[in-house]
Amino acid sequence: MHNVVIASPPFWAYSASVATVARDMMLSFQNVRIALMVGIGGGVPSKSHDIRLGDIVVGAPKDGHRGLLQYDLGGNTENESFQITGFLDQPPPVLQRALAGLRAQYKRRRHRIEETAATVIENNVLLWRHYKRPDQLSDRLYLAEAIHPNTKESCPLACDPHALIPRLPRDKDQDSLVIHYGSIASSNQLMKNALLRDKLAAEEDVLCFEVEAAGLMDNFPCLVIRGISDYSDSHKNNEWQGYAAMVAAVYAKDLLYQIPRVTAGKGTIDILLGQLRDLGY
Ligand SMILES: [Zn+2]
Repeated sequence: MHNVVIASPPFWAYSASVATVARDMMLSFQNVRIALMVGIGGGVPSKSHDIRLGDIVVGAPKDGHRGLLQYDLGGNTENESFQITGFLDQPPPVLQRALAGLRAQYKRRRHRIEETAATVIENNVLLWRHYKRPDQLSDRLYLAEAIHPNTKESCPLACDPHALIPRLPRDKDQDSLVIHYGSIASSNQLMKNALLRDKLAAEEDVLCFEVEAAGLMDNFPCLVIRGISDYSDSHKNNEWQGYAAMVAAVYAKDLLYQIPRVTAGKGTIDILLGQLRDLGY
């Protein structure tokens, strides 16, 4: 059993406030031992990482790469330059052990994240509109060179269908929702440039971009969990955000079950940060 604190920054100042909320929570609950930052992010599909919308990326150190790196975009999002500004320490040992345990459990018995998410919606029908799994046809990945025109029209109306990258459905013996472990890149600016996305991803083996962990202190005992709601390019849509937040929250809950109660002597409070609001967790 854990004591869990859930906090979310004000929606009108979301990305800039997460680090502040995290700092304030650590001050308010001084026996906090671990933090999970749960929310959405933009995936980076590549030949080596078949990332799709609704998948989950967990910021875990792998092959010499850190679990979370911070970067600044040079100038603006059209500028194809970036600068790595720091790394977050690797997750504390208790979280690393829990990650390994959960991976082993999922390999042995498959995960039930989609079923759990469906049950949450069944039991909370008002969540259906914003948190259901979107139609698979709305998972569109465009060539990096194909930029969304400067219009409010959605991709099916505005973008060249020939620029879509064809992808086969996943094999039947594969989970339809895949969990990827590797580097997450964080900045206070949204990544919307697919060419820059691919460049940074190739250099640092980044699987996901996000804006919430930017500004966290280096030694924050944290693990970042992101549901994938877009591809960090100019083709933004909001359709997958609710479902992506939901599955990330379900993964976070599964992970908590893997963590033995952290004994701190004074009583322990675990903090769960992110987009868990309204999800019934
Ligand atoms: Zn588009």
